[in-house]
Amino acid sequence: SPAPLGSSVISLVNRLQDIFSRVGIQNTIELPQVAVVGSQSSGKSSVLEALVGRDFLPRGNDICTRRPLVLQLVQTKRHPDGTEEEFGEFLHLPGRRFHDFSQIRREIQAETDKEAGDNKGVSDKQIRLKIFSPNVLDITLVDLPGITKVPVGDQPSDIEARIRTMIMSYIKVPSCLILAVTPANLDLANSDALQMAGIADPDGNRTIGVITKLDIMDRGTDARNLLLGKVVPLRLGYVGVVNRCQEDILLNRSIKDALVAEEKFFRSRPVYSGLADSCGIPQLAKKLNQILAQHIKTVLPGLRARISTSLVALAKEHASYGDLTESKAGQGALLLNILSKYCDAFSSMVDGKNEEMSTS
Ligand code: GDP
Ligand code: MG
Repeated sequence: SPAPLGSSVISLVNRLQDIFSRVGIQNTIELPQVAVVGSQSSGKSSVLEALVGRDFLPRGNDICTRRPLVLQLVQTKRHPDGTEEEFGEFLHLPGRRFHDFSQIRREIQAETDKEAGDNKGVSDKQIRLKIFSPNVLDITLVDLPGITKVPVGDQPSDIEARIRTMIMSYIKVPSCLILAVTPANLDLANSDALQMAGIADPDGNRTIGVITKLDIMDRGTDARNLLLGKVVPLRLGYVGVVNRCQEDILLNRSIKDALVAEEKFFRSRPVYSGLADSCGIPQLAKKLNQILAQHIKTVLPGLRARISTSLVALAKEHASYGDLTESKAGQGALLLNILSKYCDAFSSMVDGKNEEMSTS
């Protein structure tokens, strides 16, 4: 199934990258990394998985994520016959392609045990996994162990401090987007996620609040005020989601079914009506997309300048070698022209002036 995250930005990014590579500039658009933070079992892995649209992360009502998982999504071209291939590859197992995503989960579990033991130990040594697919955007997501307070199993007595230090090393990076995950059945004022995000990103420029478990709140309560930011204000706001519960996981319920159920959940509860912008995984993906598009808009002028520079160089070359490179320079000028139009169209799209962009 297609990944909701990035789907609306994919074609623009591709188009830009196409233009850049034609003038010899590669890997131009570096998208920010996205990391999840929150306490244990708040639903971090579930949220990441839903955003990617595939089942492959260990999840559960115990400590599951015990090493940072750096998940690099890599966009591949669709085969000429229209078929597509999606697979994962681990840094520690070079050359081995995992086409079966449940096997990816088993490998993450095995590799976690190898480094962190099989008795709840936690390690800051990364597992690096690349997912190759035509349906993803080139972006890096980081799944992190959750914050816990009481050492269990083989955990050292300072487990909380260690996990906090590990999380902070990721989310303090100024380009890292933070998904601060808090379950709806916990007091927001006690949220570890918001507390840590607040330290790493005091202005709230790169923190999105995610409220999980809306389906299992205390009877008679709802998350309306949380989502409206009336409890703890957050600049980029909140999105409430309903992920699969443990029973769904045991019954192997698919992400697709879960998304349908989530949609139905929100539709059937009048208290969330009028809050469509802050309800559901697709909305979270949309919010992320908007932030990514904004980011691209910010870096575009610099890229445009780089193309101009390389065109000046081409023109100089042209002057010294005669007509030899004329066609290349001409092609470059044409591309610059297209790119300029593209940048303008893109900017107005990000600013919300146009819904669709047309470039040719
Ligand atoms: P993490 O430790 O923060 O990565 O949390 P997980 O994603 O592993 O989820 C922990 C447990 O909570 C699992 O049993 C999930 O099935 C369950 N869970 C996560 N999100 C939700 C939700 O929105 N609703 C319900 N009912 N259960 C959830
Ligand atoms: Mg997890």
